Amino acid sequence: MHPGLPDIIRQFQTTTPGTSLQVLTGGVFKKRLLQTISPQQVGLIFNINEPRDYSNPKHFGKVIGNIEEAIKLGFKVVVGFNVWRMDFDTGFIPGLAYNLGRSGFRWAVANPQLNQHSNVINASQFVHLAPKCLEMLEKAAALNLEAELDCPLPLCFFTEKDLAWLRQFHPKTASRMGVCDPVLDVTPELEAIRCFALSKLDRVKVTDFPNEWAILEWFRENVDSCLMSDGCFEYCTDCKHFKSGRCNGGCLAWHRYGPDTNALTNPYQLANLMRQAVEEGSPQKALEHYEAAGHRARKDLPAFIASVAAYRLGRKDAAFRYGARTVDITQDPALREQAIELLKTITLDTDSVSSNPAAPEGLTGSITLQDLTGKSTG
Ligand code: SF4
Ligand code: SF4
Repeated sequence: MHPGLPDIIRQFQTTTPGTSLQVLTGGVFKKRLLQTISPQQVGLIFNINEPRDYSNPKHFGKVIGNIEEAIKLGFKVVVGFNVWRMDFDTGFIPGLAYNLGRSGFRWAVANPQLNQHSNVINASQFVHLAPKCLEMLEKAAALNLEAELDCPLPLCFFTEKDLAWLRQFHPKTASRMGVCDPVLDVTPELEAIRCFALSKLDRVKVTDFPNEWAILEWFRENVDSCLMSDGCFEYCTDCKHFKSGRCNGGCLAWHRYGPDTNALTNPYQLANLMRQAVEEGSPQKALEHYEAAGHRARKDLPAFIASVAAYRLGRKDAAFRYGARTVDITQDPALREQAIELLKTITLDTDSVSSNPAAPEGLTGSITLQDLTGKSTG
């Protein structure tokens, strides 16, 4: 732990008194450091490895001693475990968490750093890794422990049946599957990075933004968009969960990096294409572009242009839907006003509002995870 930690905590508490603080540590530090911080001020998250993974064998004992001490001092202590080898001991973290009186633990499958050589388990090995992770989670459930997933895993990492089981016993793992939104890290230079795995990509000065949400949006638009042309499996691009945004295709550090110039995925490209079609007198074409685009491209401006296009075609139901969506999702006050003005000119028929919309192709009847992913085995 950082020797200046007490001062850092004090500063945080002065500037943002309402923020709860969690300190992440590998657990190798001098025990007396715990006396310098208050259990009322911070919680501690210890990332632990199996004893065989400490290059200095004494370190495991030190980590356990520090956890024990932190608990005795009244700190809120969470233990975390990264799966980074295929032959990990599935009973290790459930047993340790139980013996330390925890109600659960955090876990993750270690991710690579983008464009850096790494020894982490490759996505092609997930099919063999998943049953081992499930074994660990079953051992945890038997001890009445709940495991919380730290970094999202592909939605198809577990089978459909396993996901249903996870929903019962480990809801904080089940709910973290699929979507990977930015997890901002801020460096001592006050630069924000999207997450550790993507730290070699763009950084921004936090002081250049009005709030955290604006930084998140910046990363979604400028970093995530360049990493979403594929996923960690070659079949991700055909997967319906990928197209709908329910799964990002695994850790983005497994993805190919390239600026997104595709109107099917880039909202600005889509908006340009649609605007051009409307100006050329082809609102139908504009709507077709919108309806063919993926969820990432269907942001506020394309939705508004779709509303205008539908209005011009006399399709007032669609014009209302797209206009209402624009109002819901836009952060731009001017666009919001324009969409509201358009909506005011539309009156819906009660009958059409209560009619059954046609379900999108491939999403009717009984569908399985495998149907959606197009995955051949596993
Ligand atoms: S195939 Fe679909 S569910 Fe599986 S990782 Fe790719 S996008 Fe996610
Ligand atoms: S890209 Fe997503 S899954 Fe990968 S390390 Fe970052 S937050 Fe985790």
